[in-house]
Amino acid sequence: MAGLTLRSVYKNYGDVPVIKGVDLDIQHGEFVVFVGPSGCGKSTLLRMIAGLEDITGGEVRIGDRVVNDVEPRDRGVAMVFQSYALYPHMSVYDNVGFGLKLANTPKDVRDRKIREAAKVLQMEHLLGRKPAQLSGGQRQRVAIGRAIVRQPDVFLFDEPLSNLDAALRVDMRMELARLHHDLDATMIYVTHDQVEAMTLADKIVVLNGGIVQQVGSPLELYNAPANLFVAGFIGSPKMNLLTGQFDMVDNQLQVVADGVSFRLPKAPGTLARGGAVTLGIRPHEFALDAAGPVKGIVQLVEQLGNETVVRVRLDNASEITAVLPGQETLKVGSTVSLGFDPGHVHLFGADGNRISP
Ligand code: ADP
Ligand code: MG
Repeated sequence: MAGLTLRSVYKNYGDVPVIKGVDLDIQHGEFVVFVGPSGCGKSTLLRMIAGLEDITGGEVRIGDRVVNDVEPRDRGVAMVFQSYALYPHMSVYDNVGFGLKLANTPKDVRDRKIREAAKVLQMEHLLGRKPAQLSGGQRQRVAIGRAIVRQPDVFLFDEPLSNLDAALRVDMRMELARLHHDLDATMIYVTHDQVEAMTLADKIVVLNGGIVQQVGSPLELYNAPANLFVAGFIGSPKMNLLTGQFDMVDNQLQVVADGVSFRLPKAPGTLARGGAVTLGIRPHEFALDAAGPVKGIVQLVEQLGNETVVRVRLDNASEITAVLPGQETLKVGSTVSLGFDPGHVHLFGADGNRISP
């Protein structure tokens, strides 16, 4: 098993830059998730690691070997795609073992590896079936089995669960987490789904426009997003972002954003007076509070049983989402007052970057 390093990695298609200088260190055994909106370059980056795309600039290392010019099959990686691409006329057993057969692996070794992989994936009872006799989740397990028998140093997954329905995705997510634990393998996983990223990753790499926005554990990204992009991308429902200004009043930082006015318990050091600021408040931070600084008209109420999602229109017509614990009976069209802990807000400067803390 091996770690992986990217140094100033660039990719252009013709003269269109798609990956714009990525630096990344992945430790042996880590589960790393590349997440970002469609078209941000996740697959391209993964395919460059796999050797399926040329590297325009920079260096990719797997273990202590630079692999820029190494053939895909010699890199010690195995890739699992969204489309399983199984051979329809072959049994599961033969599909899983096909790569080994091509590599002239002796029959007994092949048999042992196929059965081991089937055991890890809990699909020993499926080995005799054809792909058409499998569910979507079972087919994806066969595709993963094909990767496992190659005993790669690094597993690469490109949106492997996108073709599955929601319930099955949750099951497969847990299976992948277990597989990662059982195999003690380095895994890089691409998804546009921030919930998948949050639940699977040791380390999340948020990409936008071919540039890494932030690298960190799920909670680091949630608790301290580096910029407005990460703030809006990680967390569900999305963080509310209100735009406004701040000033010092009685030695306290006063923020006025979209008509919401409050004072921060302690002022971040780096602010210039009167500057523009974006205020970020997670929906779960709100609570009903008659004296709270957020007042508006209820637009929409969603009862989820364990919590109540409320959409509120503020005086200046901007809207926020609040998630209140439990079952709140709020009427559409009624007035509501919300409070929040000023110590739990996020502030971003005019450049979109987080203002410490
Ligand atoms: P993601 O996987 O994050 O959705 P991709 O890595 O597939 O994004 O694509 C990143 C960008 O590169 C997109 O704008 C896409 O249109 C472009 N792109 C991908 N592959 C090619 C290609 N073979 N030729 C030209 N442009 C490409
Ligand atoms: Mg993709």
